[in-house]
Amino acid sequence: MNYIVLDLEWNQPRYARETVEKPVHLVGEIVQIGAVRMDESLSIKEELRLTISPQYYRKMHRKVARITGLDNEAVKKGIPFPEAFRLLAKFCGKDFVFLTWGPDDIPMLRDNLVLFSMDEEWIPDHYDLQVLFSTQKLGELRQMSLEDAIDLVGEEPFQAHDALCDAKSTALLCRHLDMETGLARYAATAGDITVRPLENRELSVRFRNRGEALKELGNTIFSCPLCEEYLLPEGMIPQNANKYLSLAECPKGHRFLIRFRLWKTVGDRVGAAREVYTLDENLITFFKQKEERYEKIKATERLKEKRKRARRREKRQAEREAALAVTDEA
Ligand SMILES: [Zn+2]
Repeated sequence: MNYIVLDLEWNQPRYARETVEKPVHLVGEIVQIGAVRMDESLSIKEELRLTISPQYYRKMHRKVARITGLDNEAVKKGIPFPEAFRLLAKFCGKDFVFLTWGPDDIPMLRDNLVLFSMDEEWIPDHYDLQVLFSTQKLGELRQMSLEDAIDLVGEEPFQAHDALCDAKSTALLCRHLDMETGLARYAATAGDITVRPLENRELSVRFRNRGEALKELGNTIFSCPLCEEYLLPEGMIPQNANKYLSLAECPKGHRFLIRFRLWKTVGDRVGAAREVYTLDENLITFFKQKEERYEKIKATERLKEKRKRARRREKRQAEREAALAVTDEA
């Protein structure tokens, strides 16, 4: 298996009204791809730098141009995104995972693939190295700039904010990390799932609100991706505001973690997608963590509610006594 360290630079719309909304809400259009391929011993095998001429946000945002050193002239000489993607895919090979610095590159890549009607399913398992770095080197999960991280391990950074230089600097950090343990425990440390779902399906139904969506989704049977038997989600807990988790087992004993993603769509309706993951040790730990956290939140809420009721009771009691006192005086 190869490790591909990926770094992207993207242009932004110069004005909000220029923002592309379909087929995706396009935060950025990729103008540069930097990638480093490492083998399992983390030695660098090959490097890739591609400059892309943007089709939607053609004029470089002044701030982006300053940071990346890519001006209108430079990106005009670039290649179209679909061609860059084919080169990247060839570079990555068949068996690989993505490593990035920070959580933004993969969603950006996904959006750009959708923008050009290309296969987003191609994106393999991916890991944010900030998660490994901060937990292993700082003992806590937090954001940190690539420059600061490089500095902390005493390495010399490559010139920053060129996509390939950033990818190379990120690759340097890998040698200071316990990659094997870090990746094995990633879901639990990051608090998120990064393995590919077995199935990822946007549902055609639109719900009136979140409550209705959760009720319907929790009661809807669908087929097991492995044997076509039926699956029914068991219970539902929130992962965060937009994602909900559930477990499911088919009659033949195939077990899955089901994740529902919800979003607001046209007319204030709620759209949903269902992801089905093969349940392994990692995902069981992940689910248990979320479940425990949810139980704690619920317990705190119950306690708050109880205190509120007690206060209301005391207030009513005081009012009654005050009223009695008035009656006595009369
Ligand atoms: Zn099954």
